Amino acid sequence: MIQLKKVTKTYGEGDNAFQALKGVDLNIEKGDFVAIMGPSGSGKSTLMNILGALDKPTTGTYLLNKQDVGKLSDSRLADFRNKEVGFIFQQFNLLKRTSVYDNVAMPGLYGGLPKLDERIRAVVKEVGLSDKLNNKSNELSGGQIQRVAIARALLMEPAIIMADEPTGNLDSKATKEILNILLNIHKAGNTIILITHEPYIAEYAQRTIKLFDGLIESDKKNGSRRRKL
Ligand code: ADP
Ligand code: MG
Repeated sequence: MIQLKKVTKTYGEGDNAFQALKGVDLNIEKGDFVAIMGPSGSGKSTLMNILGALDKPTTGTYLLNKQDVGKLSDSRLADFRNKEVGFIFQQFNLLKRTSVYDNVAMPGLYGGLPKLDERIRAVVKEVGLSDKLNNKSNELSGGQIQRVAIARALLMEPAIIMADEPTGNLDSKATKEILNILLNIHKAGNTIILITHEPYIAEYAQRTIKLFDGLIESDKKNGSRRRKL
């Protein structure tokens, strides 16, 4: 489904140029659950931005479902992001003083989703927050807010869910809840790419990719070492 070939990403120009990705080859199949690890500055977020079409490779190609993402126009790219990728970030970027319902609705308003109301209620139920539908996001705990972010990411039924340190700001109980939801989403057939600093969190994934200085250092199936909740 996802195919990166010799992808590089250079920020800046001339003397200030910095190559954050130095030639990444990567295949991810539909339904895979991949953890991406690596020290700070190793290129994890850069890789996620490219996979999520927030940014284009400097060189190399990114094929998603055989479509060359680097060749899409900006408007096709925006459309692609809205429909095919669900993002979950560490800093829960929800609108404050706005209800759970309205926060989750956002991507559907942009794209014009049929049966929006039904879909909102379904994804909010999926993350176990049906009783909070009309609460404002500032009335929720960190873990609940992150669950809203997951519901919003699921709304458009994207091909891929990308989570950049989604539990980085959460306590262990809320972290468990989020992992549980991600595992259920995966079981339902979604493809998940999860960036994490925590080795024990990576062990919930099927496969762990380690980045170092802009290159893939290792890429292993978790197999029988895979952790369960
Ligand atoms: P990670 O997520 O693994 O911490 P990043 O992908 O955020 O790493 O960053 C990789 C490298 O690229 C870092 O050295 C960072 O300073 C640099 N970098 C990231 N974004 C930019 C940018 N917009 N401009 C310049 N350098 C950047
Ligand atoms: Mg990062």
